[in-house]
Amino acid sequence: MTRRATLRGAERTSLEGESADVLVCGASFAGLAVARELAGSGADVLLVDRYEVGERPTSACAAPRQWLEAMGVAGSIRQEIPCMCFHTPHGSVRYRLPWSWAAFDYRELCRQLFDQTDARFEIATVFGRRAGGVVTDRGMLRAPLVVDALGWRRVLARERNQPPEAPLSRGLEVHPGGGGRDLDVWIERSLVRKGYGWSVPAGGEQRVGVGSYEPRDHVRRPTVELAERLSREPVRYQGNWFPHRLRRAAQDDVFFVGDSAGHCFPLSGEGIRTAFYFGIACGRELRSVLSGERATDEALRRYARFSASHRRAFGLALRLQWLVPRLPPRVLTLALRALARQALVDRAFGWYLDQAHPAFAVSAHAATAAFSAGATDPATSSIVGRSMGTRAPSRKSPTPRSA
Ligand SMILES: Cc1cc2nc3c(=O)[nH]c(=O)nc-3n(C[C@H](O)[C@H](O)[C@H](O)COP(=O)(O)OP(=O)(O)OC[C@H]3O[C@@H](n4cnc5c(N)ncnc54)[C@H](O)[C@@H]3O)c2cc1C
Repeated sequence: MTRRATLRGAERTSLEGESADVLVCGASFAGLAVARELAGSGADVLLVDRYEVGERPTSACAAPRQWLEAMGVAGSIRQEIPCMCFHTPHGSVRYRLPWSWAAFDYRELCRQLFDQTDARFEIATVFGRRAGGVVTDRGMLRAPLVVDALGWRRVLARERNQPPEAPLSRGLEVHPGGGGRDLDVWIERSLVRKGYGWSVPAGGEQRVGVGSYEPRDHVRRPTVELAERLSREPVRYQGNWFPHRLRRAAQDDVFFVGDSAGHCFPLSGEGIRTAFYFGIACGRELRSVLSGERATDEALRRYARFSASHRRAFGLALRLQWLVPRLPPRVLTLALRALARQALVDRAFGWYLDQAHPAFAVSAHAATAAFSAGATDPATSSIVGRSMGTRAPSRKSPTPRSA
């Protein structure tokens, strides 16, 4: 494994002619999940990113705790967050979730994911695809299997994916010292017209930010305003675009995973667990090609079908993303209050987790073995039901409780 700080200038020696069995472009949540799923396959996997692994976080780094455990990265957790508190101009409503969020350390999480791969890593900026390979600033790289896990830009796609035309939201946050107990969400038009603000406590740090579903609306002023309202200093900025619509997950001979395929839930803007989820799905298809079980074309088709099979949930979230900013604030407050009954919270957030459930992370091999051995544990049998194209009915999936 090659490990080094991000290379600059003359250090960026040529990689021209370098080849691998699988080339994974992008070494954040999605790319690392794909590479992790290929561990032990015997394939030569080359991971590339413009930065060192874990060097540039762009998110508030909150994900369901059960997903972090399932991915073997619980050691990166800084704080568990069992409750969410929603604020509108007319009041606040607190929900105790049927599962917990966890705020984690990005660098540590990436390191722990990378340690589970047996991939090679090189720092290179990817420019695009040309017959015969992937063009980077360090030369052309070749591989029969190519994954674009490069985030919202979808660098290896045929079409341009630039805001404001592309279906993208934008987010910015600051990371002052601070704390808190809950994951707070503000839905206030005076703060951001179409979007929301958040505060994620992360063990001595507070990640305060604002996201706008409307890419033309700027988020710096509201981010500063929210930080000041919370008596926090607006320091250590980070921001990015994130998608709010599913895109084609396979195009030409490239697999698209994570933000590059629009695998980020509209409304919530949650894209880490989905990057893991679809990264694992992609990795399993790649494995089937590497083992000779399937042709590449078939794997691409199956993966694209699997991604598209989530259209209903993503479509519903997109409709809510359209509706929520248009609801009169008093109606929204009443709706949030009406949802506060524990049975409804359990049901709504249980459904939400089911759309990319952590049980999916248990290896297909382990699940199949458990199933063959007559396992009755729904946590394993549901994974078999959730294999490509046959998603188990969501209500049957387990919803681990921690709160
Ligand atoms: C401010 C903000 C806060 C957020 N908070 C959360 C949160 O708390 N929880 C959550 O679930 N989601 C959150 N999201 C969404 C989440 O960050 C994304 O959905 C998630 O990062 C997608 O993962 P990914 O691996 O697909 O893409 P990315 O994380 O964007 O990774 C893409 C990788 O590709 C590399 N790359 C990009 N272009 C090139 C290139 N040309 N050449 C080489 N390498 C390249 C990048 O360096 C990066 O490592 C947030 C988003 C924003 C903007």
